[in-house]
Amino acid sequence: MSLSTTVEKKDAAAAWHEALENIRGRIHRQTFDTWFRPLRCTGNGDDGVHLAVPSKFHLDWISDNYLSFITEQLSGICGREVEVRLEIAPELATAVEEAAPASPERSAPSTGEVKAAPICRLNERYTFETFVTGPSNQFARAASQAVADKPAHAYNPLFIYGGTGLGKTHLLHAIGLQMLERERGTRVIYVSTEAFMNDMIDSVRHEKMEAFRARYRSQCDVLLVDDIQFLGGKDRTQEEFFHTFNHLYESERQIVITCDKLPHEIPGIEERLRTRFQCGLLVDIKPPEMETRVAILRNKAETEKITLPDDVALFLATNITSNVRELEGSLIRLQAFASMYHAPITLELAREQLKSLASAPERALSPEHIQKLVANYFSLKVSDLRSQRRHRAVSLPRQIAMFLCRKHCHLSFPEIGERFGGKDHTTVISAVRKIETSLGNDGDIKKSVEAIETSLLV
Ligand code: ADP
Ligand code: MG
Repeated sequence: MSLSTTVEKKDAAAAWHEALENIRGRIHRQTFDTWFRPLRCTGNGDDGVHLAVPSKFHLDWISDNYLSFITEQLSGICGREVEVRLEIAPELATAVEEAAPASPERSAPSTGEVKAAPICRLNERYTFETFVTGPSNQFARAASQAVADKPAHAYNPLFIYGGTGLGKTHLLHAIGLQMLERERGTRVIYVSTEAFMNDMIDSVRHEKMEAFRARYRSQCDVLLVDDIQFLGGKDRTQEEFFHTFNHLYESERQIVITCDKLPHEIPGIEERLRTRFQCGLLVDIKPPEMETRVAILRNKAETEKITLPDDVALFLATNITSNVRELEGSLIRLQAFASMYHAPITLELAREQLKSLASAPERALSPEHIQKLVANYFSLKVSDLRSQRRHRAVSLPRQIAMFLCRKHCHLSFPEIGERFGGKDHTTVISAVRKIETSLGNDGDIKKSVEAIETSLLV
């Protein structure tokens, strides 16, 4: 890409003005008002057209989601490749406050809208229909269904607990999706405990606690909180969560909580919260039985359009017993294997793959290892991933690497940010979210992620 540009400052501003008009016509108005209207063109230098943004958060958001779009627009108008430089100009911040809606990150997603951290979108694949029921999980499923049908009447709070990879998050999303389906305007908030904590910390830092409280209290009809065990030892967050809980409970709003253990087993949690968790319905999810495991595999194969012979399904279900995520993972890996060798999925292939997995030494995946594989895959250097470069050729691999670190390394968002040259946790959150979404709707990204994961795990 050519770095030197010859456009005058005046021309850069005119080009930006034109680009802005094009962009306005192509995206949702609210997105435009929130993210584009506040931008200012401050001219251009040897390194490209300069755009001023109001905050670091805004900068990350634009560069993660729209930089290539903007670059494309400007390049089209200028008739050559233009590099775009984003720079922070805090004096624009007041303009944003006016232009932006009070909270751009509402949870119920409108069509194709990107949502800001920390409240997560619901994953449309996690519905009751795609949830396979068996004796191990039928109680949890029935309770979830009851809550979705009659929020705040049946069981409040509903507390779902069980080991990792058994479908707790899936059920939480299913509840939210069903409520939205019944009534589109329902204000469903799905949030991981960690995201709740980060949101609170940010709000304290930026003196936005009032907005934070409004978001989780008065502007919330249903609160779905994932992995509450993370509250252990986080006193300030517990305090805030306690009041949020009480407010919602008293105003008869549904709360659903998931946890990897029972309330009294969570270390470092206050008694008053523990008793709140216990006052509704506690349901557990156990590892699925053989038949359920086979049914889950068949379902997954069907949705992924994988031809899965019965003997292979049985073989995988016999050997992977304790975790649905692993079960599904084994199928996806097998498929990746088969397509790599242009071979059909057979029992023999499954045996071979499982053997190589079993003999692989137990190693925790390190972020460094992931960065290396991702960099190799995209023919980049690891230092590119840790750099500040915002070009899509670097930012997409970086986002994928962040996503994989989140999935495989058990690190928090800020910890991942650290490993990528000190990126802010909001950057990591939006990267992870972006890739999660792309896995559902972008075949190329999905292919890359799966190929890298295959090399990670074998
Ligand atoms: P947890 O939150 O309990 O760790 P998840 O809800 O993330 O587990 O489930 C892990 C994966 O397994 C997800 O892809 C989910 O869709 C799938 N899964 C778990 N249980 C079931 C089930 N009963 N039927 C279909 N898919 C399931
Ligand atoms: Mg989960």
